[in-house]
Amino acid sequence: MTSVSDIPATSPAPGPRPDPLSSTSPEFVEACGRVSGVARGGEARRAYRAFHRDGVVPAGTEPRLHPVGRREIEGETIKFTLTLPDGLETESVLIPMRRRDGSLTRTLCVSSQVGCAMGCRFCETAQMGLVRHLATADIVAQWHAATHQVGHRPKNIVFMGMGEPTDNLDAVIPAIRILADHDGPAIAASNISVSTVGNPEGIRRLGELAAEPGFHRLNLAVSLNAPNDAIRAEIMPVDRAWPMDDLMDAMLAWPGRPKSAICVEYVLIPGVNDGPEHCDEVCAYLKPLRCSLNVIPYNPRRDSPWPAPTEDSVDAFLGRAIANGQFTKRRGTKGRDVMAACGQLGNPEIRRRRRVGGQEAGGTPIDISIRATDA
Ligand code: SF4
Repeated sequence: MTSVSDIPATSPAPGPRPDPLSSTSPEFVEACGRVSGVARGGEARRAYRAFHRDGVVPAGTEPRLHPVGRREIEGETIKFTLTLPDGLETESVLIPMRRRDGSLTRTLCVSSQVGCAMGCRFCETAQMGLVRHLATADIVAQWHAATHQVGHRPKNIVFMGMGEPTDNLDAVIPAIRILADHDGPAIAASNISVSTVGNPEGIRRLGELAAEPGFHRLNLAVSLNAPNDAIRAEIMPVDRAWPMDDLMDAMLAWPGRPKSAICVEYVLIPGVNDGPEHCDEVCAYLKPLRCSLNVIPYNPRRDSPWPAPTEDSVDAFLGRAIANGQFTKRRGTKGRDVMAACGQLGNPEIRRRRRVGGQEAGGTPIDISIRATDA
């Protein structure tokens, strides 16, 4: 990376250095006006743009950049980690999307936390528990690393990596504002999706953002994964705190335009939620909602009690949902061999260290409890 050289010299002034990873361009320009040794006004805006578009670090600023750690590749899917100053790491996945014309775009799946407190039984990340929240800059840094270190500028962003985004909205919402900033990464809100385990209050807060000009087409994805509360509570402890009726009320209140209909995710797990009666029940539940049912064949986590579903059972579920009149899609499985597929993120080494010590060296003390389970 290079530095901007044409920064006007000014008299020194104390104060935190501006960070273009944790600020929108107006916030960055404003912060630059408060300290010395950095560009100001229109020059600061151009420096912000050069940082995000070209990777040029503005002189006098302190972006919270992190080195890329592990990089694992399966076909065109790339999973990479960023090493945080406390030794923990984020995990991100660049997922290739082939267009009809044959060209290739990439979707970046970002983490919002290290680990996760939600305890979904089918998920690798849940096995870590929550280690800590990521800061806004740590989230945007994943985009920056994908673009300027790994070398692939993503077209889409999905908050589907480690963590539950609605558990860390104070960092996630500012990150969305930065990712969508015209002078920054400039990712259209219609190309950003936030996936939640189904926290009604979190959906309402995200809905406030989606009601703002420029964010109307922000996409919401909801992990449903079951046809009723009894099955859902078995595999997703959060259902005890946030039952499906409350979840439906929150989804019905989502303000997004019709074009950004809610995506309801359904991880198909053999012997748990993949029967024809389950399919009929989930389609009936979704009737009042304009949504797409996104069926995801289960990707076995480490030590999984369940196998992956057979192709026949996936096809049978999809066919029955479509016959029920439900708009239904199948999500392709990519990255299963490098533990980069949906529900497979999480570092077993950090998990092992947690079991031994209960606290990460140099990190924020760990909240061992699974909050949603307690609820
Ligand atoms: S599926 Fe999502 S919400 Fe559930 S434990 Fe995994 S990361 Fe957390």
